[in-house]
Amino acid sequence: MPRTLVAANWKMYKTSAEARTYFDTWRTLPAVAGREVAFFPPYTLLHEVSAYLRPGEAAGAQNLHEAPEGVFTGEVSAAMVLDAGCVYALVGHSERRHLFGERDERVAKKFTAALNAGLRPILCVGETLEEREAGRTLQLVLGQLQAAVGMLPPTAGFDVAYEPVWAIGTGKVARCEDAAEVHAAILEWLKKRGAGKDARLLYGGSVKPDNAADLLATEAVHGLLVGGASLQPEEFHRIVTAGL
Ligand code: PEP
Repeated sequence: MPRTLVAANWKMYKTSAEARTYFDTWRTLPAVAGREVAFFPPYTLLHEVSAYLRPGEAAGAQNLHEAPEGVFTGEVSAAMVLDAGCVYALVGHSERRHLFGERDERVAKKFTAALNAGLRPILCVGETLEEREAGRTLQLVLGQLQAAVGMLPPTAGFDVAYEPVWAIGTGKVARCEDAAEVHAAILEWLKKRGAGKDARLLYGGSVKPDNAADLLATEAVHGLLVGGASLQPEEFHRIVTAGL
């Protein structure tokens, strides 16, 4: 199993000057042995952020287009983000699914495009509150997994982020036992298909310094995907070092 991964999703925040200020502070904070850190800034900052990274840190894209190139105004391909310094790419983030109408079929194409370009995609899966209350969480999450991973060769290298939609940016965090149940189901699904042998399962959704240690100590949680609390370097550093 690769190292625990703690990922910062900056969403549509930060200019170049703000990123510089962030990393001026970040680099005064101790590097963390034994945990990998990945930053997912907006596309415009990928080159710059890649240049600020220390060993054990990586950059990733928040999204990509599934085509290798073409007449797709405003879009960015997997090869382009790789060229900008990315190792990772988020695919199927709930904001892409719910605000931009990305369905499983499109997410699967993006996932394959990322793999084909040599990126390590992080597939985001998760249920809405309505789906959870209807008892459909596992069916939904495993369906999202099947759509993206079902047809892949067993050697494909990727990670999965379980992010309950109702926990993203809401301040409501999943209980550790709920995260453990979903993560265990994902692991079992992967094992049955012989897929994702080194896949890490990240939890995401209102992770903060005060809940990160418990989440990281939860069975089958191999990392965290952090949105709002990754925007301040000191706060994010407390998450990265939680429980150490
Ligand atoms: C996210 O953007 O993936 C996320 C989990 O956001 P937040 O931590 O703000 O809930």
